[in-house]
Amino acid sequence: MDEPSFPTSVQRLIYHLASLRNNRRERQAARREKPIPRKALDPSQRKLVLEKTGGLCHLCGGKAEINWKADHVLAHNAGGGHSLDNYLAAHRLCNHYRWDYSPEEFQWNLKIGVWARKQMENDSELGRAMARAFFTYEIRRESRRTHPRINFDENT
Ligand SMILES: [Zn+2]
Repeated sequence: MDEPSFPTSVQRLIYHLASLRNNRRERQAARREKPIPRKALDPSQRKLVLEKTGGLCHLCGGKAEINWKADHVLAHNAGGGHSLDNYLAAHRLCNHYRWDYSPEEFQWNLKIGVWARKQMENDSELGRAMARAFFTYEIRRESRRTHPRINFDENT
């Protein structure tokens, strides 16, 4: 798979994205039935993983020498094993957003994310609405992370 083919209608786009999500959930359920044990890399293995990318995050290309994760190239939940060949360095944030999306889902996330960002930068009505919703979402998410006892969704 090089690049996702583009659906021929809005409804097909929605259906395709939902279908990819459902496939991912099926993979996750199958993985839960037959879990692959997770193992931590030792410091010398982590050093080798970081050296593969010259200390850069393999997802965004930024410097990743301090706070980085050994990212499974083939996601753990998709059957990616513990061999050193299956790890590359990634920022915690980049690794978090890559999650266990399939390659096609990840490409859609990038494509849609770049388009959404352009809408916001252009200050269109849709862009402003998305920026407001995204801002609120991020504030709540960050607050839950740093203050887990505050429930912002209590009255919604
Ligand atoms: Zn990164």
